[in-house]
Amino acid sequence: MQSKLTKTEYKQKIVDAGNLMVSLGLTVGTWGNISLRDTETGLIYIKPSGMPYAEITADDVVVMNSAMEVVEGHRKPSIEFHFHISIMNARKDVNAVIHTHPIYSSAFAVTRQDIPGISEDFVQIVGDKVINCKYSLPGTPDLGRNVVEALADRNAVMIPNHGTVCVGADIDAALKICHVVEKSAHIYILAKILGDPQVISDDDMDAMQDFARNHYGQGK
Ligand SMILES: [Zn+2]
Repeated sequence: MQSKLTKTEYKQKIVDAGNLMVSLGLTVGTWGNISLRDTETGLIYIKPSGMPYAEITADDVVVMNSAMEVVEGHRKPSIEFHFHISIMNARKDVNAVIHTHPIYSSAFAVTRQDIPGISEDFVQIVGDKVINCKYSLPGTPDLGRNVVEALADRNAVMIPNHGTVCVGADIDAALKICHVVEKSAHIYILAKILGDPQVISDDDMDAMQDFARNHYGQGK
């Protein structure tokens, strides 16, 4: 599906997703960043660095390759291109990466706690839990390596004292992951106030992940 889009359409997807991310309250200001890979050409479209989402047009979106070189664009790419492209190089199933600075998930990133598997949507599409990667300064190649290592085969990871990184086969899937991670973080914090949150058992997690992968939806 994605391979039929023009370059301008790919760039517009980055612009639209950025505005949606802000309107959903998943980030503020110029923070956070989004990338999308064209599976046919391998080119990666990424948000320009330090520009407010409302001011970005398709012309500002930067095009890079898997070697982390800029191949098109007159803006500087997001400083976090290392982890965006490192993830895509490590995970062939991932074509979109979204990094946000959301409130509730960030509470876990600040206290360096895992977000456990406490709700079925989370377990089905994100993974058994979301963990923190090793700390590195923003925009460094080290952070890229640490994010890839901690993400493993899950669809989200936290960067300590910073924010979250969510991945998916396309932008809609990655945005859905951002939403579900933030919702689960919020629920877990409220549940802790109410009492003793119960984590879903490993066996039930396996069963739900199998169902989501192989049977969920029409005609499976
Ligand atoms: Zn950030």
